[in-house]
Parts: sequence; C-alpha cells; structure tokens
Amino acid sequence: MQEKGINSTFKKIISESSEMVFLADGTFPNSIFFSNQAFQSQIGDSLNEKTLAGLGFDTSAYLYKEDLILSHDGKDYSFKIESPDENGSNYFLFHKGKEIINAHFPTTKESQQFLSSSKDIFVIGRRDKLTFINDAVTSILGYEAGDLLNKSICNLIPEADLENIKSIWENNIGKSQNVFFETSIISKDGIPKEIECSVQFVNDRFFIIGHEILEKSRSKILEKLLIESAEPCMIVYADGKIFLANSEVLNLFGLDKEKEFKHLSELGVLFDDSDIWKDWIYYGEKDANIQRFSSLLLNAQGNQLTLEIASKFISIEDQGLISLTFRNISEKVNLQKNLEESTEFLKNLTDQVPGGLYQMVLGGDGKIKFSFLSQGIENVLGINPEEINDFEDISDAISRIHSSDIPKVIMSAVTSARTQEPWQCQFRVKADADENKYRWILGAARPQVLTSGEMVWYGYLTDISNQKEFEAKLDEARKTAEKANQIKSDFLSMISHELRTPLNAISGSTYSLLQEQPSEAQKNELNTINFAVDNLIIMINDLLDFQKIEAGKLKIEKNPFNIQILVNQIIKGLSFHARDSENNLELKISKGLDIWLKGDKTRLSQILNNLITNALKFTKAGDVDLTVLLKDFKDNKVKVYFEIKDTGIGIDKANQEMIFNDFDQVKPSFSTKYGGTGLGLSITRKLLNLMGGTIQLESEVGKGSRFYFDLEFDLAEEQLSLNSPKKEDFLGSSTLNLLMAEDNDVNALVLGKIIKKWGFSFERVYNGQEAVKAVEKKKYDCVLMDIQMPVMDGFDATVAIKSFSDIPIIALTAASKLEIMDKIDECGFDGFVAKPIDATELLKKINEMVLGESYSA
Ligand code: ADP
Repeated sequence: MQEKGINSTFKKIISESSEMVFLADGTFPNSIFFSNQAFQSQIGDSLNEKTLAGLGFDTSAYLYKEDLILSHDGKDYSFKIESPDENGSNYFLFHKGKEIINAHFPTTKESQQFLSSSKDIFVIGRRDKLTFINDAVTSILGYEAGDLLNKSICNLIPEADLENIKSIWENNIGKSQNVFFETSIISKDGIPKEIECSVQFVNDRFFIIGHEILEKSRSKILEKLLIESAEPCMIVYADGKIFLANSEVLNLFGLDKEKEFKHLSELGVLFDDSDIWKDWIYYGEKDANIQRFSSLLLNAQGNQLTLEIASKFISIEDQGLISLTFRNISEKVNLQKNLEESTEFLKNLTDQVPGGLYQMVLGGDGKIKFSFLSQGIENVLGINPEEINDFEDISDAISRIHSSDIPKVIMSAVTSARTQEPWQCQFRVKADADENKYRWILGAARPQVLTSGEMVWYGYLTDISNQKEFEAKLDEARKTAEKANQIKSDFLSMISHELRTPLNAISGSTYSLLQEQPSEAQKNELNTINFAVDNLIIMINDLLDFQKIEAGKLKIEKNPFNIQILVNQIIKGLSFHARDSENNLELKISKGLDIWLKGDKTRLSQILNNLITNALKFTKAGDVDLTVLLKDFKDNKVKVYFEIKDTGIGIDKANQEMIFNDFDQVKPSFSTKYGGTGLGLSITRKLLNLMGGTIQLESEVGKGSRFYFDLEFDLAEEQLSLNSPKKEDFLGSSTLNLLMAEDNDVNALVLGKIIKKWGFSFERVYNGQEAVKAVEKKKYDCVLMDIQMPVMDGFDATVAIKSFSDIPIIALTAASKLEIMDKIDECGFDGFVAKPIDATELLKKINEMVLGESYSA
C-alpha cells in the first residue's frame, strides 16, 4: 500500500465513504487491489475476477473522461475516475461510485452494441450524402462502409424506385419528420435486396434504420429468374389470366415486349383453334400431373412452328395457378418428318422399280443368303407374298432357274465373288410352279466386301421376257431380210448374166443389118441401137462388179506390176476414145515411177479407166490429163498420187457428194445423152476404199473437174530389169494384140466390143485349125479360145499350139467349169473364163497371163 502512495488516513476516508471507491493497478491485468465496503457489497463480492477487465472496463478504449458508467450484473454505476499518470501515481482511482437508478437511457456500450448490429443498417447523412454507415451494410449489401461515405443515397437505389425516393427526400429534408418506406437496393453483386426503412429527418440531416425483408428479396430474385429464364414459360390463373409471362415466351409467340399481355385468349389468333389455351388449363386442381400438348403455331412474325406445351397445376395458399412451359419442337418434328418421308420414298422406290431389288450376303460360314428382298422380287421369281419374308435361302431361288441356265448363273456369281467385279447374267426362271413355262430374267449386282469380311451384293432382277421375244423376232426379221437380200442379189446377178445372151443377139443382128447396106436413115437407127447396146454391156459389167463388192466377194489382189507400164497402157487403150471425143488425152508421170509395186493392177486399171472415160465423156474438144506422181518412198512403201483432170462441163457443188452414191447421176436425163448407169463412181469409190484410198473431187461448172487420190503400195521384192525382152515388146506394142478364136459371130462381136473398150487390138479366127496357123505365123500376146468350134475344137487347138509356143491361152466356154476343168488342165490352158463373158474377169485374166508371165520369166 505504502509504495502506491496510499496512507492510512486516505484508507480510512475511503472505508467510511458510503459511496463506492476502489483502486486498480495502472498496469495490466489492472488488478483491483483496494476497495471499500460499499464497493464490496454492491459489486466486488460478485466479481469473478478482481480486475478492471473482469469489471468490463477496457482501459485501451478508455477516453480519459472523468465520468464514466460501468455496468455490472444488469445495473449501471456512475464513477469518477482518476487516471494513473496524472499525479505520478500508478493506479486508477474509481470513486464517487453509485448506482444509477433513474430512467434507462442507453449506455454508451448499449449504443455501441446497437450501432454494431449486423441485422440493421444504420445510416446517418446530410441532405442526400451518406456520412455514417454501420458494418451491417457489408453483411447485407456487400459494400464496405468506406466505399459509400460521401456518396449520394441515390447511387444505391434502382431505377424503378428512384423517383419515389427522390420525392421523399425533397418533401422532407429540412423538416423534422419520420417517414417509412420500402425500396430495393442493389447489392454489390447486382442483386436487388428489398429493404424497409425508417427515416428520421432532422433539419438537413437524416437517420435511417434499414431492415432487409428477406422474403421479398427472395421472391424478387425468383421472379427475375423466371422472367430471364431461357425456357419460354408463363404462370397463369385458372381462368387464363396471365400472372407472369417471361421474355422468351414473348419471343416465341413473336409478341411485342412493350405491349402488356394479359390473357391467354390473346394468343388464340396464332393457333388454328383459338380456344386451344383452354385445354392447357382445363383439368384444374384435380390433376397435378404434368400434361403435355403439341400444337401448330403461326407466330405473330409469320413463322410456322410446332410447339410442345407442358402444363402443371400449382396451388399456392389456396390460389390455383398453372405453369406453362413451351418448347419449339419444329426441327425435331421436321427431322422426324424428313426421316419418315425418305423412308417412305425409299420404300416406294424399291417397290415401284420395275423388277425387284435384293441384298445378298456371303457369310463367314460360306453360306449365301438374301438379307433383303423388295416386293418386286415376288413377281420376278414367282414367290407368294406370304413366302417372301421367309425367302432367304439362295438355293430356293436357284431351284427356280432353268436347269440349263444354272451352271451359267453359278459360274458368273462365283467369278464375281472372286474378282469382286459386278455380276450380270441372263437366265430363265419357272413362270409357274406346275407348268413348264419360263420367263427370261436379267440379273445384275455389285459386290462389296464389308469390314467384317462378309461379302454383300446389291442387285436387281428384272423380267426381260418381252425384250427377249423382241430380240428373237428381230433376229428372225434380220435373217429374213438377209435372205431376201440374198435372193435379190442372186436375182440381180442371174439377170445380169442372162441379159448378156439377148444382148449378144441384138448386137449381132445390128451388126448383120449394118453389113447389108442400109439406107442412111436405117443406118442412123442402127447406130443408135449400137450405142444403146454398148452402154448396156458396160452397165451389166458394172452391175456385176457392184454386186461382188456388195456381197463382200471382191478381194483386192497383191501381185507385182509396173506402175509406169500400167498407166501408159491405160492411156494408150483410151486414145481411140479420146480421138472420138476430140479431146487431148495426156499422161504426166513423175520420174522414178518405173518400179514394180505389189497391188491389184486390174482394179487400179478399172478405177483409172472409169475416171478417164467419164472425163472424156463429159468433155468436148478439151483436155483430159492423167497425172501420176511419186509422193513418198519410205521403208519399201510407195505412196502414189493420181489425178484425172478435165476441162469439161464440171459438176455443181450440190451434186459433188451425190454422184458417188449408188446409181446416182447429176440428172437422170444424162443417161439418154451420155449413157451410163450412175454406178461407175460408186464402184470407183468402193474399190479405192478397199485399196486404202479416198477419192476426192474439185469441180466447177463450165470449167472442169479434178478427181484425185493417193494410194500406198508395197514395193515388190524383185524389180524386173527394164531390158527384159518381153517387156520391151510389151512397151513397144501400142497395145496388147489378142487372137480371138470364136465361130459364133454374135459372141465374137460382143467380145470384140469389150476388147476395143480396153484399148487392145485383136484378130479373129473361126476355128481351132485357123488358130494354130495364126499363132504359127504371128506373135500375139494372148489367145482367147472358144472350146466348141467346127473343124478343130479349142482343146485340140490348144494342145497343138502348146506343142510349139508358150503363148498364154484362155479358155472361153459356156459349159460349167467342173465338167471340163480336168480337160482344160490336161490340154495346158493357162486360164478359164466362163461365158457369157464377165469383162472385168477377162481383163484380169489377160493381165495375169501377160504381165504375170513376164514377171515370172
Ligand atoms: P455414169 O455411169 O452415169 O457415168 P458415174 O458414177 O460414173 O455414172 O458418174 C455419175 C455422174 O457423175 C455422171 O452421170 C455425171 O453426171 C457426173 N460425172 C462423173 N464424172 C464427171 C466429169 N468428169 N465431169 C462432169 N460430170 C461428171
């Protein structure tokens, strides 16, 4: 005691004081080390801890006030306090302590506790600015008090409530008023909180006590969630009045968000049935299950949608409400529809396709089975509709196939499986189970190997019986036509041959009449007949050639011939003709063509003869040139250019193609003026084609024509030397000189005309004996020997001639070849031509005899 500066007198005074006095250490833990009776009895005895802290006095919060209130055990006591440092003492002196028994004003502590409430927000402000906010603002609204100080209260009020709050402030600030209101306040997280406020306005100050209405805040949040929900939904009353419709539902119906939408009946116009909404709410309170509807909607924007509506009855405090959620299932419906449509389409397609479609699988077990058969298969394979579902085994199908077609079907299928190439086969299947009737089927399939190793065929079977029948008919018709054509050809050929005999007679008679000094008029008539007969002979020869080419019987030979010799010979042969028509016929041949080529000399002669004869025929007192040029000579191949040019009447452009057609002439009337059959150029072109050439024409009416073509020949292996005696003879003679042994005048006349046309000369004898004598006396190139002759027949004459000469002798006989063939061979004839004479054949034979022999000699 002493060291704390308290003497006994002071102690006595304290002890006797009726007011409470006590002393506590100036340093922690501030033990109460002395107190009087009054303190002991009122407070000290009931203190658990005899320290200031035990008394609830916090020295750190002590504000150096001399008066303070201590609370203990529900009672307040006022004390005066002396602090340690003031007089150098190291203790607190609490004195004049007495219980406060008057009306209960809040103690400082109570006020502090009150203000530190976490449930209520206390705000003090001036005008609209906030000057004090307690910590509750943090737990309720999330803001730190410091964030809001000196800001306007308006910052916390959402738009919707702002007007109201402003008017409260404007009406009350500066007065002394108490006002109560509710408002939303936006929390720091943006969530509106519903707060009820009591405001005391005092002059320009205000004091707010705010309390959060939790229930209201929650429902506000739920409402917002519902309104902002991504699912279109509404809440309606049982009569269809709308309690709430969210923004998605308005979107879905295409409704204006600004316009208030009050009753479901307003939606009616968007549906076919304007009362449809009644279904959604009809079942009322009885059924709490979710009901679903679907319905077509044409929304206010004109979009067609399919809606699924889920409706649920909710009862809230005796109030019946219905929640409606809407789902746009158009896409799903469309998808489903598309799927159904395409399935339907495929089914139709497989059913409607003519024939039947199938899928066949070759499984791992080596068995082949049908995995799909379209309806059409019933008809193709003759399966009953009831059977088709069980029709799986391939052998069932095979058993229906015609026994002679089975190997073909199986072999082709096996090949397809092995090569994985598409399968195709035509076969017959039984048309009727009992009868022996079959129908033709075309089967085709494409194989595919699955990843499982199995093989699948996708294929079809189709009935081709009609087609087959048609093909058979067509084939028959073709055969008939071929036969008819053959008959026609045979007929033509027969007629041509037969015509020659009467022609010979006409020709012979005309000749006889001309010998009997006819009058001038008669002579003219006879010459006309002569002219006509000449033309007929040429025509018949042409017809026979034409016939041969058409029948494909004409073969192009490949025998050696000298091109220069040949063209010279042709020109010489036609020189008479040229003279007759007053034309100047010339040959222009390039050097280097004195060569032996392999080809068909006879046909080449025929071509050139034809073209030159035409040129002479259609040119009057003009020029006709044959040009032959060596165009190319390479690797034993010789290309020769031929050109026949005239200065005649020319051919109109329009007719230039036509004249090469069979039997075509520029004008039919031509034949009366110029003669001819219209076959010459057609044969020429055909022959040239057979020889690998193409005839070309340039012509101008009134100026002339130019026919030209190229031909390619192989060079003959052996080139005959130019100084061969036979050849010199041949070249030396202006033309071939023939001996004709023929007793019949008419035959001799016709044969003579043909020979003259070739440009050859001849002498005639009347029997075999004369022939032998003639050959003994003179040198001929060839003898044309009739077989049946008086005095000495052709056989004996030939034997006689051959005994001293190797001159070629050609037999001419009307007898069929077989009968006399042997005899002809025996007698040593070199060749044989049947009567009536085919001019081309004879020319060919002569050429063969004369040049062929020279060549081999
Ligand atoms: P034809 O035997 O009637 O002469 P062709 O087939 O040889 O038959 O000729 C057909 C037609 O072509 C002739 O009738 C004639 O009108 C025409 N023609 C052929 N060559 C000539 C040519 N050199 N000049 C003018 N016209 C020609």
